[in-house]
Amino acid sequence: MPENIIDLRSDTVTKPTPEMRSAMANAEVGDDVYSEDPTINKLEARAAELFGREASIFVPTGSMGNQIALRLHTQPGREVVCESRAHVMDWEMGMAAMFSGCQLRTVAGQRGVLRWKDIEPALATSGLYYKAQTGLVWVENTHNMAGGTVTPLAVMRELRNGAHSRGLPIHLDGARVFNAATALKTDVATLTEGYDSVNFCLSKGLCAPVGSLLVGTAEFIREARMVRKALGGGMRQAGILAAAGLIALEEMPKRLHEDHATARLLAEALAKIEGITIDPADVETNIVIFTTAFDAPAYVAALKQNGVLASALSAHSVRLVTHRDVDQTACLRASAILANVAIEAHTAA
Ligand SMILES: *Cc1c(COP(=O)(O)O)cnc(C)c1O
Repeated sequence: MPENIIDLRSDTVTKPTPEMRSAMANAEVGDDVYSEDPTINKLEARAAELFGREASIFVPTGSMGNQIALRLHTQPGREVVCESRAHVMDWEMGMAAMFSGCQLRTVAGQRGVLRWKDIEPALATSGLYYKAQTGLVWVENTHNMAGGTVTPLAVMRELRNGAHSRGLPIHLDGARVFNAATALKTDVATLTEGYDSVNFCLSKGLCAPVGSLLVGTAEFIREARMVRKALGGGMRQAGILAAAGLIALEEMPKRLHEDHATARLLAEALAKIEGITIDPADVETNIVIFTTAFDAPAYVAALKQNGVLASALSAHSVRLVTHRDVDQTACLRASAILANVAIEAHTAA
């Protein structure tokens, strides 16, 4: 494989920045199970402040944050209404069933974006004793598998008001909520206002090595601490991670527009390649999903031979994700490789 691999598989591959490394080396730490890690406490307080919430809790992964929230908002036998390709549906190991005894009721959104009119028919709140009742409404913004699509502010409010009008809590899987806020030119507090809980990742485009935060009311987060401990997520001198997380939270959101620009650049290049279908206007954030007339896994394997890493999502679709470690020059180089390898794949097909 060539040197200078351009890794576009995910924004999770970002390495901690030199500033993060030095903050980690110098972090003040304590035992977080005793709530005595000053850097963790600072990170949790800052996240709560940025989201306009009472409290937050640091968790090792976004999956854990999501599953703690799902557990706290529901009881066994309830349904959680989510989008059909939501992360909680496809990539969280059936934990809604395994851990909370709930089933997911999926609803297809337009390019992953749910409207209240999509959700409402899927709800069961009448108390009919022979029908599983809805326990929670679940939103994902940006939507990963739909290609980083953004649920606009007005729709976020429509969903929140709808859920609350039916007496239901609403959770936001905001793994990339800072990308959504950037695309919408708003802030995360405004975008997520009134959501009963929000989970977001520090370890994706924000470049921290590890960690997510779950935000909510003080009471909710107090209970979340117990569930996190039960799941084996009570960490000790985790301030080493929080030190990087603080930089992720303070410094990284302001550069996400660069990732959105490089994603658009890739999409525009891809749109010109024969055998590839994508509308660049559909690329709203840092995720680019396109379909191929040829075999996608074989294309991805050939790209790898040429130094570009991508993900085949199916037999005929590919995902690229831009991030801090692939700058504009790297993306231009990737565009040329994507085109050359596609010509070979297309001719062979
Ligand atoms: C990445 C991601 C998560 C959390 O993933 P972890 O790998 O468990 O941190 C949750 N939701 C969405 C939409 C994601 O993209």
